[in-house]
Amino acid sequence: MAEIEIKGVAKRFGAFTALHQIDLTITNQEFMVLLGASGCGKTTLLRIIAGLETPSEGEVWIGGRRVDHLPPRQRGIAMVFQNYAVFPHLTVYENIAFGLRMQKKPQSEVDHRVKRTAELMHIEQLLQRYSGQLSGGQRQRVAVARALAMEPDVILMDEPLSNLDALLRLEMRAELKGVLAHSKTTAIYVTHDQVEAMSLADRIAVMHQGRIVQAASPVEVYRNPAARFVGSFIGNPPMNFLPATKSGEERFIVAGSMLKGPKASGDIEFAIRPEDMDIGPGGIPATVRVVEPLGAHTLITTDVEGKIFRVVLDSNAEAKTGDMLSLVPRADRIRWFDPQSTSAIQ
Ligand code: ATP
Repeated sequence: MAEIEIKGVAKRFGAFTALHQIDLTITNQEFMVLLGASGCGKTTLLRIIAGLETPSEGEVWIGGRRVDHLPPRQRGIAMVFQNYAVFPHLTVYENIAFGLRMQKKPQSEVDHRVKRTAELMHIEQLLQRYSGQLSGGQRQRVAVARALAMEPDVILMDEPLSNLDALLRLEMRAELKGVLAHSKTTAIYVTHDQVEAMSLADRIAVMHQGRIVQAASPVEVYRNPAARFVGSFIGNPPMNFLPATKSGEERFIVAGSMLKGPKASGDIEFAIRPEDMDIGPGGIPATVRVVEPLGAHTLITTDVEGKIFRVVLDSNAEAKTGDMLSLVPRADRIRWFDPQSTSAIQ
C-alpha cells in the first residue's frame, strides 16, 4: 500500500518561489502524471517526493508514513530519470541487479527478480550484453527494469522517454502502461508532452507557474478544464476563446451570436474546442485563412473578430481561403470562464 500525500508543499530558491502550497494525494496504485510547460515546477515537486530536494514548507507522506525528513533510500521509492544513468561497463543483468545487490539480496532472489523484470520489459535476450552496446530505447528499458526489480511501492519517473524517437516512444509508452498496471506500483510521471500524459495517466495534475491548476482524469481535464490555462494548454490545437458580453439573464453575445450561458454578473469568456462546432445557419461568422487537410479531418484556421479561431471538420468539408463560414458551437460542449480569476464557471 503506498498512497502519497503532499500537504502544503512550497519550495523557494532564494527570492524565487518554484512551488506554491501544493496539496495532492496520489492513491495507492494510481498512475499520476505531472504535466506542464518547462519551468512550471514538475521536476522540483518530483525531487521533493524523492528526497533529492527539501521542501521550504509542507509535508510528504508515503504509505501513511511522514518521509520528508528521511533520505531517499528510506522512502521505499525507485526512480527513473531523463538521463537514465545505466552503467555502460556493466551487463544488462548486472545493471538490473544493481539495487538488489546493494540491498544484499541472496543470489537466487536476485536471479529470479532480474529475469522476471527483464521478461516484463522484453529485454531477456539482452541480459549478457554490455549496456554500452545498447540502443537508446534498450537502455531506457534497462533503466525501467532496474527500478521495477526493486519491487518498489512507488516509482518516480522524470521524462523517461524524452530521448527516444517518436516510434519508440509510442511503443515504450504502451509497454510502460501495461507493466505498471501489472506490477501494482504507485507511479508519478513527469512530462511536458500532453499526448503522453493523456495516454498514460489515471489522473493528470496540470501545473502552471508552481501551482496545480487541475488534477483530474484525462477526459475530465480535456472536456472540463477547471481554468482557462488548462483549455489553452491541453489539446492540439487548443481551445478557442472569445469575449462573451452579457446581454440579459443567462444571455451572452459572442461574435454577434446570442448564446445561452451561465448566471454571471458581468461579461465572461466563451470557450469551445475546435472539433465541437458544425457549419450551419446563425453561427459565429468566421473568415477562412488556412485550410489544412490532415487525412481523417481538416483543420481550418479562421479569423473571428480579428482573433485566430480554429475548427476541425470532416475531411469532406469544403472550404478555401477567403470563404465565410458560420460556425455553430455544440451547446453541451461550450465552456465559460471568469475573465478575472480565469476559473471555469459551472
Ligand atoms: P522542465 O520541464 O524544463 O524540466 P520543470 O517544470 O520540471 O521544467 P523545474 O525544474 O521544477 O521545472 O523548475 C521550476 C523553476 O524553479 C524553474 O524556474 C527553475 O529555473 C527553478 N529552479 C529549479 N531548481 C533550481 C535551483 N536549484 N536554484 C534556483 N532555481 C531553480
